[in-house]
Amino acid sequence: MELILIKYGELTTKKDNRKFFIDTLENNIKTLLKEENIVIHKDRVRMYIECENALKISEKLKKVFGILSIVIAYKVNNNIEDVLKKALEIMDKDKKTFKVVTKRADKRFPISSMEYSKNLGALILKNSNFTVDVHNPDITLTVEIRTNGTFIYTDEIKGLGGYPVGIQGKGLLMLSGGIDSPVAGYLTLKRGVDIHCLYFESPPHTSMEAKNKVLKLAQILNNYSGKIKVHVVPFTKMQEAIYKNCPDIYMITIMRRMMYRIADIYAEKIGAKILVNGESIGQVASQTLNSMYCINNVTNKPVIRPVACLDKLEIIDIAKKIGTYETSILPYEDCCTIFVPKHPVINPVLSKCLMYEKNFDYESILKETIDNIEVITNFKQDNFEDLL
Ligand code: ATP
Ligand code: MG
Repeated sequence: MELILIKYGELTTKKDNRKFFIDTLENNIKTLLKEENIVIHKDRVRMYIECENALKISEKLKKVFGILSIVIAYKVNNNIEDVLKKALEIMDKDKKTFKVVTKRADKRFPISSMEYSKNLGALILKNSNFTVDVHNPDITLTVEIRTNGTFIYTDEIKGLGGYPVGIQGKGLLMLSGGIDSPVAGYLTLKRGVDIHCLYFESPPHTSMEAKNKVLKLAQILNNYSGKIKVHVVPFTKMQEAIYKNCPDIYMITIMRRMMYRIADIYAEKIGAKILVNGESIGQVASQTLNSMYCINNVTNKPVIRPVACLDKLEIIDIAKKIGTYETSILPYEDCCTIFVPKHPVINPVLSKCLMYEKNFDYESILKETIDNIEVITNFKQDNFEDLL
């Protein structure tokens, strides 16, 4: 049997909510690993997963928020001969030096941790070519002695940290096919928010490929969540109405106000408390402070912009790390890139937005649009692999 030990992330500092945090993490792991044959045990400090293929499973666990570290441990009987045998088996022969760290959960164990480390170290020296280096060892062999057996492991794999997805309730992410919004989604998932995605499409001005690209991005995000849904907004009628009724330079500002209005109403409908997007201060005309002021004015909900203060290169770094970059740079048009005026207003004025919006009955279009939102679920791993 192989065993994976999971140390919890930041959640252990939140005493009152600890049980909820741990239960949520367990459920998330179960969802992620539902095709694997595993047994989970947990206590207040750790989770233990019994499994057959610890290497493969630990790869998946590296994408679960709420995990501080992962170790692949081997369980043996409490006698030192069995521990030695396993130690020699798992210590990497390409490495030279080692030290033993012993932890005793079972304090009734007859000898001290120091003494145990010394004894085991001496046995390893005698039975192998490794040498001891207590200050800077190539291998740290950790031995944890418990009542029901001894766990032994060499490497601690760093987890993602953050909070288990779901402990903070729902948030609605405006997900485009760009680089920024998937990163914004990832960072918000990291804080435990259960992200739902809202995608605005304008067929026939936007293509099926553009939509599939967004679904692919959602699928990548789903590896970090397990419960991603994409809500697709039919935005054509609204965009054409704006095009017909508003001056060129205000088209983008008003289009984004309509996006925010739809997001606001729809968030209410699905019980999302916050809106999330990939806006970054100053990146384009619609993201100057004056633009943000005018656009944000249509909602009272908190709008979280995780990448607001990052440079594009910093956002790209994260996109590469989380695996969305290669998909994001595929060249399909977005509803923001059609009907783009040559010179969008950089410093829009709120009273003008209100005035231009009086030119058409946007309320009825809003209602019709929201009534026709399509929900896409079932983002199983690799489901959308063939889309692009
Ligand atoms: P990038 O993600 O690289 O910035 P972009 O699609 O974000 O490209 P922007 O004009 O910067 O282009 O859009 C700002 C934000 O508005 C996006 O990060 C996203 O949150 C939201 N957004 C833009 N277009 C759409 C869309 N078609 N559907 C949903 N959200 C969108
Ligand atoms: Mg952007």
